Amino acid sequence: MADPTTAPVPSDHIMGVYARAPLAFERGEGSRLYTADGEAYLDCMAGIAVTALGHSHPKLVQAVKDQADKLWHTSNIFRIPNQEKLATLLTDNTFADVAFFTNSGTEAIECAIKTARKYHWAKGQPERIDIIGFEGSFHGRTLAAVNASGNASYLEGFGPPMPGFVHLPYGDHEALKAAIGPTTAAILIEPVQGEGGARSLPVSCLRGLRELCDEHGILLIYDEIQCGLGRTGKLFAYEWADGAGDPDIMAVAKALGGGFPVGACLATAEAAKGMTPGSHGSTYGGNPLAMAVGVASVEELVKPELLDHVREVAGYFSQQLSGLKDRYPDVVVDIRGKGLLIGVKLGTPNREFMQHARDNHLLIAGGGDNCVRLLPPLTLSLDEAREAIGLMEKACEAAQAKAAKDKVGAA
Ligand SMILES: *Cc1c(COP(=O)(O)O)cnc(C)c1O
Repeated sequence: MADPTTAPVPSDHIMGVYARAPLAFERGEGSRLYTADGEAYLDCMAGIAVTALGHSHPKLVQAVKDQADKLWHTSNIFRIPNQEKLATLLTDNTFADVAFFTNSGTEAIECAIKTARKYHWAKGQPERIDIIGFEGSFHGRTLAAVNASGNASYLEGFGPPMPGFVHLPYGDHEALKAAIGPTTAAILIEPVQGEGGARSLPVSCLRGLRELCDEHGILLIYDEIQCGLGRTGKLFAYEWADGAGDPDIMAVAKALGGGFPVGACLATAEAAKGMTPGSHGSTYGGNPLAMAVGVASVEELVKPELLDHVREVAGYFSQQLSGLKDRYPDVVVDIRGKGLLIGVKLGTPNREFMQHARDNHLLIAGGGDNCVRLLPPLTLSLDEAREAIGLMEKACEAAQAKAAKDKVGAA
């Protein structure tokens, strides 16, 4: 087998759905990843907002080890004590009354969509099936999730669009009001967009969405798979509306297992009233191994001092990145997002910029609208943040030099 650390082309036995960087890691610790030959990288993407507590967090490692020794899997036909514990932890700390556990974000979205439709069905309004979504959204890769987000390139070739999904421009209040009708079931939105370019919904919109849903008797679904669990400096991004923008249903995942595949669909008891025995299920969802990690992870993520830390580091990034925008105006054109879900919109190609960052041993994520995203572990220290900014500056220099060279080449 070719060495995956250096081979320019990945294995042709892997389905070719990813354009992978020719780089592999052997271990991680905190905010660092290490290649097999010991090269260190500063990880400011955290596996796309997954390893929120950093790599090899001692409590998560211990939780997996302890549970692995005892019991991996039973079945949801039995009670699973840690599932009940994690559900209580999540509902005590949110708007929700109940949780359904999944193995991924997209399955949490599936459950959210099904819960919303079943709610109206149970109320005697089975015609209410439409889920209103927004341009630039991302909800995962199952068929329902790609139909919900409506991104044309993710839908192409996968058959006709499914009925029951409506897409509107982002931030067009009038279009939204006009789109709500007798077949509307729910509005589905990310309070802070992830893949779509880190656009953050103003708090006034969170309130406005809640009012609109109440007025029309429809459900509000938040996709907090990326922006939830501390990333914006509150446990969940909807909390920035201080109770006036609570959803009925919410999908979470990513940081929930800190790298172990765990997701959840949270709902009020009212919104979940159609989800009766037999209406939904999952073999693995909520199994003992996953739940042991989920409990350990959420117990850390709810700590107020961690959320204070996120806000502090986020303030530093925001200030320093606007400095980079002033110094490299052709490279950095906009800073967006909220907390440690940071979008940097570029004037040069984002894929090239990610390579410049990697050349300097800094890992960042891509994003829509020619953004790169910084999604560091929430535990990133201020010193590491300073280091990240220094490396971002080097990447800006490289991008500027490359743009100047391309210009000469074109002339
Ligand atoms: C990652 C993500 C998903 C999909 O999660 P998977 O675990 O990849 O299925 C859905 N919505 C948002 C906002 C995400 O960031």
